[in-house]
Amino acid sequence: MTLHIPFDNTYAQLPSQFYTRQSPTAVAAPRLLAFNADLAATLGIPPADEAELAAAFGGNQLPDGAEPLAQLYAGHQFGTFNPQLGDGRAVLLGEVVGTDGIRRDIQLKGSGPTPYSRNGDGRAWLGPVLREYVVSEAMHALGIPTTRALAAVETGETIWREGALPGAVLTRVALSHLRVGTFQVFAARGETAALKTLTDYAIARHYPHARGPMGLLRCARDAQAELIAAWMGVGFIHGVMNTDNSAISGETIDYGPCAFMDVFHPNRVFSSIDRAGRYAFSNQPEIAVWNLAQLATALIQQYDDPNEAVDEATEIVHAMPAQIEAAWLSRFRAKLGLSTEGADDLELITDLMGLMTDGQADFTNTFRSLMDGDARDQFLEPSVFDSWHLRWSKRLEAEVQPQAVMARANPVLIPRNHQIEHMIAAAVAGDLAPFERLMAALARPYEPQPSFEDLRRPPSEGEVVQATFCGT
Ligand code: AMP
Ligand code: MG
Repeated sequence: MTLHIPFDNTYAQLPSQFYTRQSPTAVAAPRLLAFNADLAATLGIPPADEAELAAAFGGNQLPDGAEPLAQLYAGHQFGTFNPQLGDGRAVLLGEVVGTDGIRRDIQLKGSGPTPYSRNGDGRAWLGPVLREYVVSEAMHALGIPTTRALAAVETGETIWREGALPGAVLTRVALSHLRVGTFQVFAARGETAALKTLTDYAIARHYPHARGPMGLLRCARDAQAELIAAWMGVGFIHGVMNTDNSAISGETIDYGPCAFMDVFHPNRVFSSIDRAGRYAFSNQPEIAVWNLAQLATALIQQYDDPNEAVDEATEIVHAMPAQIEAAWLSRFRAKLGLSTEGADDLELITDLMGLMTDGQADFTNTFRSLMDGDARDQFLEPSVFDSWHLRWSKRLEAEVQPQAVMARANPVLIPRNHQIEHMIAAAVAGDLAPFERLMAALARPYEPQPSFEDLRRPPSEGEVVQATFCGT
């Protein structure tokens, strides 16, 4: 039996220079590890048995109506422009319009080589696949825009990385896979007609009310500004904010060496490949602006006289830092239970974060414990918290329901690195129980759940994860 997915493909209708038609490469022994039945229902995918799902999402049996293709894009990687990247280990199966009326891409990641694979094998191993599954679904449950995970399939094949590892394929669902780099590739090639087509396509798909390239730029800016502020609010470090990993839709995309911080430090970096700290936690707003400037540069190439658009593009990009700051401030106000705006709020927040840095406080637990009244225990030297606490208590007198505001802004649970590492080690050994337990707990991250109390615990000294790896 072939899985039926109600595809309605539009990208495959675009001119052929946008992609290469490419089927997934069949794998030896596909076995379904995880399937997101709720998301499948939203996508209109009818119930199917495990073997059918494994065959479809392992890449062995194309669902009816799939028009698989590898998308072309370029991108700035760590600031250096690479004129041609593209899906090197992914294929877009097609798009569906869900029961909610929203159009989404269904993409296999780790599905075999494509013309854009360069020296890569086109594959992924189990670790990063389950990591993306857990972290992207946790992100969604946290209320932050993100690509979703529909399925994880073990391939029954060995992948060679630092050693022999089990292969896997992730099925990823996204509002689209249009990236800043998708625009850059045509701009760099001087393919103005393609750039115009892409701009119209992106507007129709994501921002139908936007007018022209500059309207698109504004909308992408607004979405990215909100996204970055949301990341900062949960201590998330993306790790590889290259322009090819920056989605026009404003979704978090490409979970590589990403991490949620345990102990707070503004300059925290996890990615083993980010030696200069370009994508450190507190650099993320600045990088988002830099990436938007690259999108602006690409978009203006489609004007007969690019000078026409330069002033407007500059104005749009220059407005972004203040916009991120405002979104950030509003999120951190909420984290402190503040619904009203006070002139000294910024100072109150940054002073707390300074104390957290010096006191090596756990980011998630410190904010959550503000509402439980035991935050001082999070600091190396608890007494440093007391004078700040006095100032905050005074400020709270102006608030009506700070507890309710804090409960919605401060998660109890985040996917902690050491728990993810533990989950991966167990899965490699054939035990998916930790994966399933993490998924169950992280589905309700803002609720205290007595049976998952242990997942709130920061890593012990021996459990601390110092670096995360791309896992390509
Ligand atoms: P990423 O760092 O995952 O965003 O990937 C950057 C680029 O490298 C993209 O063009 C990927 O498709 C490509 N790539 C990453 N891993 C592999 C792999 N194992 N095989 C082929 N291409 C890859
Ligand atoms: Mg990428």
